[in-house]
Amino acid sequence: MSVADNLKQVLAELPKGVRLVAVSKYHPNEAIEEAYQTGQRIFGESKVQEMTAKYESLPKDIEWHFIGHLQSNKIKYMAPYVSMIHGIDTYKLLAEVNKQAVKAGRVIDCLLQIYIAREETKFGFTPAECREMLADEAWKGLTHVRICGLMGMASNTNNIEQVKQEFCFLSEYFEEVKSTWFSDSTTFCELSMGMSHDYHEAIAEGSTLIRVGSKIFGERIY
Ligand SMILES: *Cc1c(COP(=O)(O)O)cnc(C)c1O
Repeated sequence: MSVADNLKQVLAELPKGVRLVAVSKYHPNEAIEEAYQTGQRIFGESKVQEMTAKYESLPKDIEWHFIGHLQSNKIKYMAPYVSMIHGIDTYKLLAEVNKQAVKAGRVIDCLLQIYIAREETKFGFTPAECREMLADEAWKGLTHVRICGLMGMASNTNNIEQVKQEFCFLSEYFEEVKSTWFSDSTTFCELSMGMSHDYHEAIAEGSTLIRVGSKIFGERIY
């Protein structure tokens, strides 16, 4: 199956209101171009340098979503063009994105990453840390970032019930955060969850942005 065929297969299953981030990390420009030809415009990358090189050489109407672990010293390289940053997991990072967005003369869409897996390797705010950060309200002074929703990664396990529980938890937590801090907001509406092996479960639990890589582009070579 070609990239275009895989992509069409994933898109055909997407309910209205769910968008696909095609995760192209470690894959060459040619693979992205093939997906672009079929109409895909949102691509996800996890290394700033790699994403920036791709941004510079590929069509400018691509929306680049940064889905990797964020390092504050790299934010400045993507601030001029990045469409959405999925992995904000400290107030400090949010403030740094704001600072770089001011310099770039932009407002950058961000998602708060919430730790929902039973794995120590994953990043994210714990739900309590996120509540604490939002309750402090300092974020309201950050005029150049827009908090558009939440992001999470389920445990990497074959136990599908556990994965469903983790997505269900994030979905309920999203509603809590929305009603507590963003009830007047029209932009807090994204729930980024679901990857190649679990996006069906994520959609069933209310995902609005799925991040699918290997199912479209094939296995990555690290
Ligand atoms: C790599 C990655 C994905 C895509 O993973 P696949 O299993 O290849 O679909 C999704 N989200 C994040 C945060 C990733 O790092």
